[in-house]
Amino acid sequence: MSDSSPDFASLPLAPELLDNLDSLGYHAMTPIQAESLPPMLAGRDVIARAKTGSGKTAAFGLALLSRLSVADFRVQGLVLCPTRELADQVAGEIRRLARSLSNIKVLTLCGGAPLGPQLSSLEHGAHIVVGTPGRVEEHLRKGSLVLNALETLVLDEADRMLDMGFQAALEAIIAETPASRQMLLFSATYAEGIRPIAERLMREPVSVEVAESHDATTIRQHFYRVADESARFEALRRLLLHLRPASSVVFCNTKRETDEVAEALNDAGFSALALHGDLEQRDRDRLLVLFANGSASILVATDVAARGLDIDALDAVFNYRIARDLEVHVHRVGRTGRAGGSGIACTLLSEQEDYRLAKLADLLGEALETEPLPPRAVLERQPLRPAMATLQLGGGKKQKLRPGDILGALTGEGGIAGEQVGKIKVLANSAYVAVRRDVADAALDQLGNGKLKGRTFRARRISR
Ligand code: ADP
Ligand code: MG
Repeated sequence: MSDSSPDFASLPLAPELLDNLDSLGYHAMTPIQAESLPPMLAGRDVIARAKTGSGKTAAFGLALLSRLSVADFRVQGLVLCPTRELADQVAGEIRRLARSLSNIKVLTLCGGAPLGPQLSSLEHGAHIVVGTPGRVEEHLRKGSLVLNALETLVLDEADRMLDMGFQAALEAIIAETPASRQMLLFSATYAEGIRPIAERLMREPVSVEVAESHDATTIRQHFYRVADESARFEALRRLLLHLRPASSVVFCNTKRETDEVAEALNDAGFSALALHGDLEQRDRDRLLVLFANGSASILVATDVAARGLDIDALDAVFNYRIARDLEVHVHRVGRTGRAGGSGIACTLLSEQEDYRLAKLADLLGEALETEPLPPRAVLERQPLRPAMATLQLGGGKKQKLRPGDILGALTGEGGIAGEQVGKIKVLANSAYVAVRRDVADAALDQLGNGKLKGRTFRARRISR
C-alpha cells in the first residue's frame, strides 16, 4: 500500500470534511494516514502502529466521521483511551475535524469527573463517545450508555491500555458492542497482549505499520559522555544554554531524581517543573497548564508520569539518564519532532552506560557516537526565561465565567493588549490565564481591581 497517494482528496470523504482539513493546515496525509485510511474507509478492521506524533488521531477520527449518520443520535463511534488527558485531546481533535459537519456531538466519559453531568449528557444523545475504559464500563453497567448502534470501536494507545491493566475492562466493553462493528486498534509500540484481542475479536484485520526508522530524518539524536554525576548536571545545563529550547522534557529514571534535577535547574535560573506519578491529579493538571501555556519551559519527568502526556511542539527531549529499556528510549525520543516537524534528542551517558548505546545502535541499525558537549563558556549565559506567566483567578464555570469574559476584563479600560494574553483555561471554580511575563503585574492589578460579571474575583500569580 506504499504507493497510495499522500493527498486527502484521493479518499472517498465528504467535500466538507476535505475542505476543513485544508483549513486545519492538513494539506497532505502523514504516512500512517496514507496507509490506514484506505482500508478503514473500505470498512475493514485495522491494526495500525506508528510513533507518537504521527497523526493517528486524525486517521481514526476521519474513519469515524465518514461512517456517521448525523440524524441518528445514538452512539455510533466509541474511542477508548488510557488517560483522561488523552481522551480530552482526542475529543478535541475529532471536534475540530467535524466542525464543518453540522451538529456532531462528541462526548467524553472519563474517570475523575463527576457522574451526574455525564448522565445528563448521555440522555441528550451523542454520536461519538471518547472515554477511559473504567468509566465507560461503569456507564455500560448502569445502562446509561448503550452501544447497540455502534458502528466503529477504536482502541487508541492500545499498548498502554494493556500495560495499565485495562484488559478486563476492554473485554467487558467489547462484549457489549454489536458483532458487526468495525474495530480499529492504534498504538505506538507493539504489545504482545494485543494479539489475543486481535485474533479473537477482530475480523481479518489489516495490519499497517510505519516503521520508526522511516522518519528518523526529522529527529536528530545526539549522545554525550559524562564523567560522573556532577558532570551529568553540568552537561544538561550546557545543552540547555546552548540549544535554548522554548519547550523541552528532561527524562529521569526515578521520581527522586526528577525532583532533584528540577530543583537544581530552578536554582540555576531555569524554569522547570517536576512531573512524577505521586502528584495529585489537581497538581498534575496545574503543572501541565503552566507548561502548555508557555509559563515554564522545562518539564522534568519519569516515563510513567509522562505516559499519556501529549504535548505538541516539543523542541527537544533530554535523556538525563538513558532508559533501561531501549523501546522506552525510542518512545521518549519520538516525542519531539511531531508530524514532520524537526526535533532534537540529547542523551547523556556515563562510561558504564556505554553498552546501551551499542545496543541502541544495533536496534536502529545505525552507527551512533558520542559528541563533544558545547563549550564551558556557555555556562556564562542567562537561561531562557519563559515568555508567559500564569495568573489564577478564583472563579470558573460555576461562576459562569467564560474565556471571553476574562479576556474582556484584561483588555478593558486601562488594561493590557489582547495579543499580550495567551491561553485561557477555565475550570469548575477557577481559571488559569497566561499573559506575557512583562505585563503580568499590570494584568494582575487589572483583574484584582476590575469586575467580572459584576463581581471581584481573587487573582494571584502562580508561576515565577
Ligand atoms: P499520534 O496520535 O500519532 O501521537 P496526533 O494525532 O496527536 O499523533 O498528531 C500529532 C500532531 O500532528 C497534531 O498536532 C495534529 O494536529 C497534527 N497532524 C495530524 N495529521 C496531520 C496532517 N495530515 N498534516 C499536518 N499535521 C497533522
Ligand atoms: Mg495518539
